[in-house]
Amino acid sequence: MNRLSAPKITASARDMLALVTLMGLGNPARIPDPLRLHRAQLDRSRRTCVARCGLFLVGVACVWLMFGRYSSALALSGWSLAMIALAIRTRCARHGGDGTSRTVRRHGFWAFLNGCAWLAVFPIVMPHASESQLFALWILSSGLMVGAAFGYPALPLASIAFLCSVGFGSAFILHPMMSFGHLALMAGFTLLLLLSNMRQAIDFAARLHTSQRLEEQSEVVSLLLKEFEGSSADWLWQTDTEGSINSVSPRFAQALGQEPSAMEGRSLVGILAKGTEPAGHRSAALVALARKLDNHEAFTDLAVPVEALGGLRWWELSASPRYEDGQFAGFRGVASDVTPQRENADRIAQLARFDMLTNLANRMQVTEALRDALEHVWQSGQRAGFLIIDLDRFKSVNDTLGHQAGDRLLMLVADRLRAVCGDRALCGRLGGDEFAVVIPELSNRLNLNRLALAIIETLSQPYEVDQDTLYIGACVGSAIAPEDGSDAETLIRNADLALYRAKEEGGGRHFCYEPALHHAAQERRHLEMALREALEKDQLHVVFQPVVDAMDGEVVAFESLARWTHPEMGPISPAKFVPVAEEARLISPIGEWVLRNACQEAMNWPPHVRVAVNVSAEQLGRPDFATVVMSALAHSGLPAHRLELEVTESVFMREGTGAVAMLDQLVKLGVRLSLDDFGTGYSSLGYLSRAKFSTIKVDRSFVQGAARNVPESLAIIRAVVAMAQSLDIETTAEGVETAEEVLMISSLGCNKIQGFYFGRPMQAADAQALFAQRNSRVA
Ligand code: C2E
Ligand code: CA
Ligand code: CA
Repeated sequence: MNRLSAPKITASARDMLALVTLMGLGNPARIPDPLRLHRAQLDRSRRTCVARCGLFLVGVACVWLMFGRYSSALALSGWSLAMIALAIRTRCARHGGDGTSRTVRRHGFWAFLNGCAWLAVFPIVMPHASESQLFALWILSSGLMVGAAFGYPALPLASIAFLCSVGFGSAFILHPMMSFGHLALMAGFTLLLLLSNMRQAIDFAARLHTSQRLEEQSEVVSLLLKEFEGSSADWLWQTDTEGSINSVSPRFAQALGQEPSAMEGRSLVGILAKGTEPAGHRSAALVALARKLDNHEAFTDLAVPVEALGGLRWWELSASPRYEDGQFAGFRGVASDVTPQRENADRIAQLARFDMLTNLANRMQVTEALRDALEHVWQSGQRAGFLIIDLDRFKSVNDTLGHQAGDRLLMLVADRLRAVCGDRALCGRLGGDEFAVVIPELSNRLNLNRLALAIIETLSQPYEVDQDTLYIGACVGSAIAPEDGSDAETLIRNADLALYRAKEEGGGRHFCYEPALHHAAQERRHLEMALREALEKDQLHVVFQPVVDAMDGEVVAFESLARWTHPEMGPISPAKFVPVAEEARLISPIGEWVLRNACQEAMNWPPHVRVAVNVSAEQLGRPDFATVVMSALAHSGLPAHRLELEVTESVFMREGTGAVAMLDQLVKLGVRLSLDDFGTGYSSLGYLSRAKFSTIKVDRSFVQGAARNVPESLAIIRAVVAMAQSLDIETTAEGVETAEEVLMISSLGCNKIQGFYFGRPMQAADAQALFAQRNSRVA
C-alpha cells in the first residue's frame, strides 16, 4: 500500500522542492545541474522580454487615456517616465546575468520593483476617480498580471513578486473603496494566477529535464553509431516513409560500389534487387524484406542476396521503424556483408552432407534422399529402390596394405559405383566399406536386380592400387518402397537384413528383402546373446568323431567338434551357432577353448592317433594364433605332428589377412593342415599350392553324389584323389554312412574315411573306450 501511495506524495513534495530551486533560493530538489536550469529559465523569460515591456507601455498609455484628463499631469508624467525607465532597463538587462541563482533572484527583485512602480499610479489617480474607474484600473492591472504570469513562465520568483505586489498591493490600496466581493474577486484572481504560474514553472522544469535527458540519450546514441560505423564492417542505412533510402552513408554506397548521391532517394528493395533477379521474379528474401517494410515491422538478420562489387554477395539486414511525433518516419537499420560466413556455412553444410574421402553422399544425405524418394512414392504412386553394398575382403586390404591403400581403393570403388549408377540414382557411402544407392524412380524389381548385379560385376573387377592388383568383391542387399518399408529407417534396416543374408551366402551375391529375414535376424541376435552367456557359463563341450584308415578301418584320428546344449533351447547345431560366433567375433575364444580341450583329450589316446581341430578364417587372421597353438601344445604336452588343423578354402578368400603366412608358420611348428569341405567353396585346386596341406577332406555332398553315381561327383573325387596323390597329400572322404559307400570310396582311392558308418561324434569318454575295447580285444 505504501508503495502505491508513496509516488504521489513524493511527486508533489518534489514539485515544491523543484519550485524552490526554480526560484533561485537553493537547490533542495537536488537538480543535477542547477546552473543549466537557471540558464534555461532565463533564456525562456528573455524570449517574452519585449512583450512584457510592450505590455507595460500599453498599460501606461491606457492610464493616460483613462486618467490623463482628471489627474495631475506632472505626477502622471513622472510616474510614466519611471515606468518607461524600468521598461528600458528590463529590455537592456535581458542578456545580463551569469545564469546563477543570484540572477534569478535579481529578476525577482526587479519584477517586484516593477509591480511596486505600477502600484504607484493608484495614489495618483485615486483622488479623482470614481469606483468604476478604479475597478477599470484594477482590470488593467489584472491584464498586466496575466501578462506577467505568462511572461515569466519559467521564473516563478519574478512572477510571484510581480503578482503579489500588484495583486495584493492593489487590493490593499483599494480596500476602503471596494466591496468585500470586489476584494475577494481580486485576491482570488491573484491566487489563481499565482497557482497557474507555479504549475507552468514546474512543468517547464519537468520538460526541460526530459528534453535534456533525450538530448543526452541521442548524443550517446549518435556517439555509439559513429563509433559503430567507424569500427565495424557493418554500415547504417535509413529510409523514408516510402522505403526510399536517404542520408546514404559512404560505407553503404561503397558496399554497393556506387556513389552516395546516385543512391539517394531510390527504393531500398529496388537497389538490392538489381542484378540478382530476372524481371518479375523476386527472391523470397526480398519479398520478405518488402513485406516487413510495408508493414512497418522490425526485423533482424534478414539475409538477402545482393549483386555488388562484381559478384553475388549476401547481406544481412536488421532494422526497426522510426517514429517522429508518433508518426511513422521510415526505417533505420544496419547491414553487414556476411558472404564469407555464408560461404563457410555452405561449405560446412556441404561437408556435413558428403563423405570426405569419396565425395559421395554421406549417410545423412542418403537418408534425406531416401526420405525425399519416399515422399515422391506417396505422391506419384511409383516405387523407389534402395541398395546397400558391402565390399568383400576389403578389411584384408586395409590390414595388409595399410589404410592409405584402403582409402585409395575406396575412392576407386566410389568412381565405379558412380559410373554404373549414372544420374538416375544417388550413390553414397554409409561408412567403412559400406555403400548405398537410392533409386527414386524404380519401374520394376527386375531393374533393381539388374543394377545390383551390374554393381557386383563392376566392383569385382581387379583394381590397380600402388602397383598392386587387388581383388575384392561385393554383396548387395536391397529393399523396395513402399512394399518393404514406408519410412527411411525401415527401408535401410530391411536392406541391411537382405545384405546380411547375401553375405551369409558367400561373396558376390544380391539378396532382396523378404519378411522372413526379420525372423532370422531376431533369432540370430537372440542366439548371439545366448552364445556369449554359454561361453561364460561353460555350456559348451567337445565331441570327437573317428577318422579311420580306408584300408584297415583303424582309427587314425578324431575330429573334435564343438557342441552347445542350451538349458532351454536344448542342443544347438554348430552349423547354426558357428556362423553366429564368427559374425559376433566369438569364434576365436570358442576355437581356442576347443583346441585346448582337444589337445588335452588327445593325450589319452594311443600316440599314433591324431586330433583334428576346425579353425575359422577369423582365427587364422589373428597374429597371435600361432602362439595360441603353441601354448595349447605346451600345456597338454601333445607333439605338434599329432595335431591337425582343418581350414576351408574361405581362408584364401580373405587373402591379405596374413592367413597364408600363418599357415606356413603353423606348418613350421610341425602341425598338420587339412583342407576341409573341399569342393563346396571355390573349388580351386590352385589353393593346394598355397600352403603345405597334409590332407584334403572331400565334402560329404560328393560322397553322397558318388554313391548315387552322379558323374560330376565321381569325376571330382577322382580328380581330387589324383591331384592329391601327385602332391603327396592324403584324402579323407567325409560323411560316409553305409558299407556301400565305404567300398565305393575305397575303390576311388581315398586314404581315410570319416562318417556315421564308423562312428558318430562321441563324448571323450566314449572315444577313450574305443581304444580300451580294442586293447582288450588285442589282449
Ligand atoms: P565339418 O568340419 O565339415 O564337420 C563335419 C560335420 O559333418 C559334423 O557336423 C559332423 O557331425 C558331420 N558328419 C560327419 N559324418 C557324417 C555323416 O556320415 N553323415 C552326416 N549327415 N553328417 C556327418 P557338425 O558337428 O554339425 O559340424 C558342422 C560344422 O560346424 C563342421 O563341419 C565345422 O565346419 C563346424 N564346426 C564344428 N565344430 C567347430 C569348431 O570347434 N570350430 C570351428 N571353427 N568350426 C566347427
Ligand atoms: Ca572339419
Ligand atoms: Ca568338413
